[in-house]
Amino acid sequence: MSNKFVGAHTSSSGGVFNAITHAQEIGAKAFALFTKNQRQWVAKDLDTQTIDKFKRLLDESGILPKHVLPHDSYLINLGHPEIDKLEKSRAAFIDELQRCEQLGLDRLNFHPGSHLAKLSKKDKENPQIMKPIEDKCLDIIAESINIALDKTSGVSAVLENTAGQGSNLGWKFEHLAHIIDRVEDKSRVGVCIDTCHMFTAGYDIRTKEVYEKTWDEFEKIVGFKYLMGMHINDSKKELGTHVDRHDSIGKGFIGLDAFKYIMNDERMDDIPLILETIDSSIWKEEIELLYSLEN
Ligand SMILES: [Zn+2]
Ligand SMILES: [Zn+2]
Repeated sequence: MSNKFVGAHTSSSGGVFNAITHAQEIGAKAFALFTKNQRQWVAKDLDTQTIDKFKRLLDESGILPKHVLPHDSYLINLGHPEIDKLEKSRAAFIDELQRCEQLGLDRLNFHPGSHLAKLSKKDKENPQIMKPIEDKCLDIIAESINIALDKTSGVSAVLENTAGQGSNLGWKFEHLAHIIDRVEDKSRVGVCIDTCHMFTAGYDIRTKEVYEKTWDEFEKIVGFKYLMGMHINDSKKELGTHVDRHDSIGKGFIGLDAFKYIMNDERMDDIPLILETIDSSIWKEEIELLYSLEN
């Protein structure tokens, strides 16, 4: 019996419950979804009928709530340097947590935030300039999480590592640790590691040796106890490019071996392992492929 829970980020268009049906269609044992339109600030509240239907279908599917990894809106920036925009993001994030709570889910995946400073390439390479800018943004993100956790209950805030595109933070394990360190309720904070983002952020996992080295570093800096989910994606871009372009499993620069290591690594047991690969028409095959990699 496999202890891996592999699925994909399925569509909730037409109603959040549709994500469950789509997950079942591809043989998924886990799934991710948006609980509202991810490109809009406001959404209509979830009504009782929708909530009941979601809970009933989830129960019937046999997929456990802890294997569902909702993703928040791309508009939210919990590290925004401008107060009015920061407050808008914080309010939207609280709404997202409440929607998860209403659906009986226990974790919400989100991108930490961006400092948005316009800097020259030279400045970006200068740690004396970058460190205070990054630290300030990471502190704002942690404060945003504290405010949101205080106003909600039962749902954990799950920080996703990023590729480090533009001014996005969270690409270094140290960024994730910095935020977690400042979150007051450590029982409600976690991380989701995206393999594509990890790779283009500069963390190699292509051979057994570097795979172990990268995860040793993760354990030392962040800790596996915070790992609450993963995004399983290959990458269209090379190691350390800081560009976020997903590819189908085994077709990109990461290659199949890394995914074999993951599928046989018990540190990734019992958490949602979510495909966000580019061709949804082959998700069923990709899920089968991943399970076939287990020893
Ligand atoms: Zn994401
Ligand atoms: Zn990505």
